[in-house]
Amino acid sequence: MTAAMTDIEYDFDVIVIGGGVAGAVCAHQLATAGRDVLLVERGAEPGGKNLSGGVFYCRIMQELFPTFLQDAPVERRITRNCLSFLNAASLVNIDYWDARLAEPVNAVSVLRARLDPWLAARAEDAGVTVMSGVKVDALLREGGAITGIRAGDDELRARVVVAADGVNSFIARDAGLRAQEPTKHLAVGVKSVIRIGEDEVRRRFNVEGDQGVAYAVVGDCTQGVAGGGFLYTNTDSISIGVVLRLDDLVAKKRTSSEVHDHFLAHPAVRGFLTGGELLEYGCHLVAEGGRAMQHDLVHDGLVLIGDAAGFTLNTGFTIRGMDLAAGSAKAAAEAIDEALSRGDVSREGLMGYLTRYKESFVGKDMDTYARAPEFLETPEMYKEAGELLADVLYNVYNLDLSPRRRLTATAGNALKRSPLTIRRLATIGYRAMRAL
Ligand SMILES: Cc1cc2nc3c(=O)[nH]c(=O)nc-3n(C[C@H](O)[C@H](O)[C@H](O)COP(=O)(O)OP(=O)(O)OC[C@H]3O[C@@H](n4cnc5c(N)ncnc54)[C@H](O)[C@@H]3O)c2cc1C
Repeated sequence: MTAAMTDIEYDFDVIVIGGGVAGAVCAHQLATAGRDVLLVERGAEPGGKNLSGGVFYCRIMQELFPTFLQDAPVERRITRNCLSFLNAASLVNIDYWDARLAEPVNAVSVLRARLDPWLAARAEDAGVTVMSGVKVDALLREGGAITGIRAGDDELRARVVVAADGVNSFIARDAGLRAQEPTKHLAVGVKSVIRIGEDEVRRRFNVEGDQGVAYAVVGDCTQGVAGGGFLYTNTDSISIGVVLRLDDLVAKKRTSSEVHDHFLAHPAVRGFLTGGELLEYGCHLVAEGGRAMQHDLVHDGLVLIGDAAGFTLNTGFTIRGMDLAAGSAKAAAEAIDEALSRGDVSREGLMGYLTRYKESFVGKDMDTYARAPEFLETPEMYKEAGELLADVLYNVYNLDLSPRRRLTATAGNALKRSPLTIRRLATIGYRAMRAL
């Protein structure tokens, strides 16, 4: 490829498509290495079209941007994590606070409408040309290799193109690297950001200073649809919403907005939102397939990163995508820089990306949680498990003057009333241990 393409006039060393976390980090790293980079974003400004629940596991960002925590628009340090089983009329909460999560900082809540412009500005500071409000329509090819982009009537050429255009990557499909994902690999996320004021965030969620809480909720928040709810605290607002597996949403004949509204109106939740002002409401696809969504990530002159490469992990405890976007962007930038130095941007020349991401936390975590998507298909997780837990606890705490029974008998009786059996519970437990 390199020999055949020496007569092409390139406008840039690298064109990055998509100004989300993956694209901005990759562009920043390449420009820092001295490369001439264009970052193209279809939104009027980076972040304008992006949505994320908002908990950023940010160690990778602290590595890439040493002053990230001081300078970036982060909201709260997440030091409390709650795993909540929500039923129609009860809530069982596993509430975990740990001062060790405050320092060194492990995770922060973010709002993409603030974070993404900050990241794009850092890329610009490093020398990246940022072009917002421009949608890439097609890839340019020369003898099978990708050599640039077309946006409207404009054509721009680069030695390498990076597809960082998100979960529904049209570029990856255009390059023939990904087919349309089956709906069971995709979920739809609906989220509201509601301002309740800084003092109210601290009071309602029992957090001090800039500490915050992240709830992962399962059960009645999704009205039986496979998926979950989330609630994260920002400085003076709450990010709250649901993530619903597309195939199950269709099968259960629900709409995502109806399920979202049901969650926010739940008696165990609505008190958190009282008197709040709606700041943002949005809807976005989420990649849920884990390793099953990993296809070919490299082509002659092209690499895929972030959501476009399928790097998202939902374990039930955490939803991760932004840290994997940043990690894959770093791996890709290093490999592209090397390939450009060698003058070989063919598929073989760019394969260093695969080695790098597989050796990084991105590849290792994708492998560790390879069975998580399959485990999250367990239907009882979305109703019966939470109801059983609440039933056991109800009979522990409800002192109705009937003779008390020991915990094992109380649990045994609750299990008799539940559609779950000991055998089924053991199977679910075994699958959870293998998956998580
Ligand atoms: C409801 C919800 C909750 C989530 N919660 C979390 C969470 O708490 N923590 C976490 O880490 N992750 C979370 N995620 C996942 C996370 O948001 C994604 O993994 C992350 O945004 C991926 O970053 P990215 O840069 O790869 O893609 P994106 O952020 O989607 O960025 C892609 C960019 O490409 C642009 N683009 C697309 N097509 C074109 C085109 N043709 N031309 C030009 N530009 C284009 C888009 O406008 C966008 O700016 C959540 C996702 C959702 C939807």
